[in-house]
Parts: sequence; structure tokens; C-alpha cells
Amino acid sequence: MCAWWNLWTWLLALALLPAGAMATAVQCNGAERIRLLEPVPIDLEELEALHALPPLRVTAVNAPPLASFDAGQNTYTGIAADVLCFISGQLGLRIEFVPAHELSVPQKIEQVQQGHIDVFMPLSHLPEREQLGLFSAPFYDSHYAVIARKGRRLDLKTTADLARLRVGVVEGVALVPLLRQIVPEGQLVTYRQSFARGGLFDALRDGAIDAAVFNGDFFSEQRYRHRLFDLHAVHTLYEHANGYRFYFSPTPQHQRVVAAFDRYLRVIDIAPSLQQHLDGERQLIERYVSQRSQRTLLQAASATAGLLALAAFAALRHHRRLLRQLADSHALMAQQQQALQTAHDELAQQSRTDGLTRLANRRHFDHVLAREHARALRSGEALSLLFVDLDHFKHVNDHYGHATGDDYLRAVARLLARHAGRSTDLAARYGGEEFVCLLPGTGAGDARDMAERIRAAVQELALPNALAPWPRLSVSIGVVTLQGGEHAAPELLAAADAQLYAAKHGGRNRLCATTLDVDEK
Ligand code: GH3
Ligand code: MG
Ligand code: MG
Repeated sequence: MCAWWNLWTWLLALALLPAGAMATAVQCNGAERIRLLEPVPIDLEELEALHALPPLRVTAVNAPPLASFDAGQNTYTGIAADVLCFISGQLGLRIEFVPAHELSVPQKIEQVQQGHIDVFMPLSHLPEREQLGLFSAPFYDSHYAVIARKGRRLDLKTTADLARLRVGVVEGVALVPLLRQIVPEGQLVTYRQSFARGGLFDALRDGAIDAAVFNGDFFSEQRYRHRLFDLHAVHTLYEHANGYRFYFSPTPQHQRVVAAFDRYLRVIDIAPSLQQHLDGERQLIERYVSQRSQRTLLQAASATAGLLALAAFAALRHHRRLLRQLADSHALMAQQQQALQTAHDELAQQSRTDGLTRLANRRHFDHVLAREHARALRSGEALSLLFVDLDHFKHVNDHYGHATGDDYLRAVARLLARHAGRSTDLAARYGGEEFVCLLPGTGAGDARDMAERIRAAVQELALPNALAPWPRLSVSIGVVTLQGGEHAAPELLAAADAQLYAAKHGGRNRLCATTLDVDEK
């Protein structure tokens, strides 16, 4: 049921569609553009006879300015349409348009000849066309033009010069017999189509022919419609004017119609109609030019926008690259700064350190001694100093070699660092096999005790010293404690050295101690 319903609606739509939107017609509102130069006499009897005729079936060709097919409106307009509408209106004749787009001009002529169509507009009259049917009087003269590709030199002075060229023409146009007389056979090519693919103008552009002979008016109008700006008219065949007419099928009724038409055609003024057509053509050109300039403007604008976007993109990329490079160089700089700092710290550390024992060196010791001495003077706190010297160390070197001597020095250094272990204590290598321990905040008793522990501990290392009076490494220690008073730092050192000297003289492997205080000073 549903399928049948669909089929019916589809068929109905198909039947209605061409009758509604698609019907081609002659646009008759231009009849008022036709004027009569003098009144036309016509009697009542004749008018009645014409009135009784069935509608005139009319067809047309696209031949501006006489008849132009307007695809948008689906109508024919132009001077011929205006004239036809005007005269048939005057005579009370009805017209009915027969669209025959698919037919060529000769085929349309045949249709008229056989009576399927009553009128064909416009058609140029030729002697050989005389017997085909009835021709009205002419109402417009047009001329053929020779069209060529731009830049192509044809050297055409007269129509006879066409003899040298390969010439194309649309088949069936009035000029074909004349062209056959001028152009040698084989050089004259006829085409069924003019602007369509594979037609006359395609052949001209492809170089298949040198020149096209075509209605000059029609070409100048269609040039804009079809954008044939690479083609132009190089010569006009003024000597072969075409008088355009209405062509009727040869019947007695049409004879009466043509007689009546001719009385009007002899006295009509088509100037306003021609002006209207030229105005339309001018509007077409203006529209084309403005569309083109708008398009050009749009293209220029989009090209500029594209360029700007490209430039912005390039700038952005450049900017990003710069930022990346900047970040990289920042990171590199930070890295280098870090490395520099490390190297600096290492150097500073090295400058304070003894290379062999890794204890503080004498320079650093002197620096710390000065600082702690000043602090002790300020605070009144005790400051002790141990001067440690290896006993008979020369024998170690002599007997076991210098490398072993170095090992002994390192072993004693480790031991001193362990004993002077408070954060404020400082053990240092004073030079050769002499060491010092600076003990801030350490009184005389504690300093002695520490010196004793150090002495005993060195003994316990049990490092052999075969050549010494007792065969183990020992140390002698001079101890000094600053307990008040204004004693200078060198005095402290000298006192410690003196105590060491005393210990050596006392038999070595021992310590001697003294206190520097107010009284002593
Ligand atoms: P004393 O008990 O009187 O102090 O006798 P000593 O042999 O220890 O004293 P002396 O000053 O005569 O000799 C010290 C030796 O220390 C001489 C020197 O070769 C050695 N010495 C100094 N510095 C180093 C060092 O860095 N490495 C080694 N292996 N020996 C060193
Ligand atoms: Mg010594
Ligand atoms: Mg010594």
C-alpha cells in the first residue's frame, strides 16, 4: 500500500515539474519598447480572420541582441522577442513558445518547413532559403565578424584574405555558401556548436582553426558570459549585412500573417529595444568586472592574510628558538657557575690542606690560631696548643725508606685528627714531621691529658723504628695553655716549641707543659 502511494506521488511530481518551473517562454513585457513611426492601416475583416487563428507556435535561437536565452529566467528576450510580442499584440494573435534547445538551426528550419512550428525567430534571409517557407520583412541588420586568438597575426585586410586560413563556422548560418566560394575546400570546417565543448570556439582556442566567422553582436555579448578574453574580433564583414527576419511555415494563413507583419515591420522603430539590450549587456559587463575585482580583492586580502600568518608563524618560531637558546645558555651558565664554584671550593680546600696527610696546612693553622687567639683574649677562655714531633724519624726514612716514612706521617695525622675531634679543635701539619693541635676552650689539665692520650696512642700504633733506642715510633709533645694575660700568638707557639725541646731533652716519648697567664706575663 505504502509503496503504491510513493509511486503515485513520484509520478505526479514528475508530471507537474516541467509544466510549472521549467516552461520556457518568450518574455513579452518588452513590447512597449517598440514604437511605430506612422500608423498602420488594418481593416476589421482582416483582424477577425487573424483573431480566429490558433496560437502561433514560436521557437527561437540564441542570437543576441535579437533573441537571447536567459537560463536564469528560462525565457527568450531581445529585439525579435519585443517585435514579435508587439505585432502579435497589435493583431490580436496569441503566441505559444515551443522550446527546441536540442535542435540545430537547420533542424529548426525543417520543423518550420514541415509545419510543426509556425514561426522561427530570427533567421537571416538567403536566396536559397527563399523556397523553404515565408520570410517577413527584415527588422535588424547584423554583421559577421572574423574572430581570432589574441596575439595571432592574421593580416586580414579584406574578406577574400580568408582564403589563406583554416576557417571555422557554425553549420547552417547564412554565410556558409559565401565562405565556400572564398575558402578552399578542406580549409573550411563547420561546427554544430559554438560555445559548448568541442564547438567552434574550442577549436579556435585549440588551434584546430585559424579564424572563426561568427555573428559579431553575438560574439561581443557572449565573450563576457563565457570569458573568452583570449579571443577577439579582428575583422567585420560589413559588405555582407544580414537582414534578420521572422521565418514562417508556408501556409495560406501564414501568408496573411506575414502580410500584416510586414506592414508593421516597415514602420517600426526598434531603437529603444536595442538600447535596452545594450544596457543589459553593459550591466552584464559591469557585473562581471565588479565580481572580478571583488574576487581579485578577496584573493589579494587572503594572500596578504596568508603572508602575515606565515610571517607571524616564522616570528613565533624564531622567538621560540631564541627562548630555547636562552634557556639552554642559562642552564649552561648555571652549570658552568656550579663547576666554577666547585673548582673554587676545591682550590680553597686545597689551599688549606696538606697534600700528604689531608690535615690543615701551616698557612691555615696560622690563620685559625690568629682568630682563636683573638677570641680567647676577648672571652678570657683558655686556649691550648700541642706541638707534636716524631722521635727519631730520620731513622724511619733511613731504615724503611721515604714511602714508609710517609705512611707513618699519615698514620700519626689520622690519630691526631681523631683526638682533636671537637668541632672547634684543629689538627694541622706544621712542617716535616711536626704537627700542632689547637684546642680552643681547653684548659691546661685537659690539654695535658689529651697530649698524654696522643703519646700513648702513638705508642700503641706499634710502628717499628728499628734504629731508634726503643724500637717503636714515639712522639714528644710540648703543651702550652693560654689562660688570661695579653700574650701574643707567636709567644704561644714559641712556648710550645720550648716545651717540645724540653721533652726531647728529657728523653723523648714524653710531654712537657706550661701555662701562660697574667702572672707569668
Ligand atoms: P728528633 O727525635 O730529634 O726529632 O729526631 P728526628 O730524626 O726526628 O729529627 P730530624 O729533624 O733530624 O729529622 C727529621 C726528619 O724528618 C728529616 C726529614 O727527612 C724527615 N721528613 C721531613 N718531612 C718528611 C716527609 O714529608 N716525609 C718523610 N718520609 N720524611 C720527612
Ligand atoms: Mg723535628
Ligand atoms: Mg723529630
